[in-house]
Amino acid sequence: MELKADKTISETRTDFSYRLEMAKDEGKKVVGSLCSYFPVELTLAAGAIPVGLCGTTSEPIEAAEKVLPADQCPMVKATYGRSVGNTCPIFPLADCIVGETTCDGRKKMYELLAREKPMHVMDLPQKPDEPEALEHWIHEVRKLRDFLSRQLDVAITDESLRRVIRGMNKERRLMKEIYACRKHHPVPIMGTDLVGLTTALHYTVDREEYRNNLASVLAELQRRIRDKEYACGPERPRVLWTGLGNSLGCDKVLRLVEECGGVVVCQEGCGGVTRSDNLVDENKDPLEALAERYLGVTCACMTPNNIRFEQIDRLIQEYAIEGVLDLTWQSCHAFNIESYRVSEIVKGKHGLPFLHIVTDFSQSDIGTLRVRIEGFIEQMLLRRQNGAH
Ligand code: SF4
Ligand code: SF4
Repeated sequence: MELKADKTISETRTDFSYRLEMAKDEGKKVVGSLCSYFPVELTLAAGAIPVGLCGTTSEPIEAAEKVLPADQCPMVKATYGRSVGNTCPIFPLADCIVGETTCDGRKKMYELLAREKPMHVMDLPQKPDEPEALEHWIHEVRKLRDFLSRQLDVAITDESLRRVIRGMNKERRLMKEIYACRKHHPVPIMGTDLVGLTTALHYTVDREEYRNNLASVLAELQRRIRDKEYACGPERPRVLWTGLGNSLGCDKVLRLVEECGGVVVCQEGCGGVTRSDNLVDENKDPLEALAERYLGVTCACMTPNNIRFEQIDRLIQEYAIEGVLDLTWQSCHAFNIESYRVSEIVKGKHGLPFLHIVTDFSQSDIGTLRVRIEGFIEQMLLRRQNGAH
């Protein structure tokens, strides 16, 4: 099995939009989502198809800047631009959209996005460790169920939710095993290939097919390890990726790291391993169990976001990490400020090279980024030579 995504994100989205149109012709409904706090199980239990609508490319930004201030995070602008700029073949197919009150840019942009489609915004509590937070979030999950039931004209029963929760947990277990294959040194797949592949596979109208694809990817990775068929040599330093930019389309930094001689062996955060760690408890009331699981998502919009630091600490050890790259999108204050605490763990506790990059979706800073990344890789190699790994 070829473990590469051979299409660009635009081609992937266009192909997916054809499948989506066919599914809609057969009566399926489509729910657009915008964030990892979205309890996707509710869409699936309603028999609808979930689609991610976050912007990850620069093309839609020009249209967005006619309305939004230019000094916004590129993710916010590209997401809005997809809705108004006619650059996205998927957006028009969504029957409704769900967002969450994460950062300021997102929630203010959602007020405008709501003019384009029926939209529901979940009120996300931002101090996840407080006991009231879970109570409030359970209430919000219940409200989302009612919104989707009304919007899609279907009852979302506990029974259908339980079935979907089991299926989604299966997906998370498979993803976790796929990620774990990269604990092997050298790795059986490069970071760019895995991100490309998982992003492309995720555009699916058929969950069973998706799970089968994940199982095939896992089997192929395990075979490669058995047959010592690695994606690169052992000389490449092992990088942990944290922060943002874990997706096909906005992957310029990820590509640079691997072009410059490193290998990204683990990704923390959205699009990474930590989103597969947390299962939904199959023995609890399904809505409460969903609320509990999704409140455990780590994001810099939370304060304090302690679980993220614990996860980075653990992943550094589990994946034999030699350096950590933290990516922040321009104008994202939350991830930008939180980077200091990430550096304390990486440099202070583990004594590892740390590189914080702030960038956007454009290609204008590629030259400067390359120089900084080369220096980062140099540091890791030097550390190795000095016998620290
Ligand atoms: S980084 Fe935060 S706001 Fe962005 S998708 Fe992830 S959870 Fe949502
Ligand atoms: S990158 Fe930061 S500012 Fe941009 S949408 Fe995500 S949390 Fe908000």
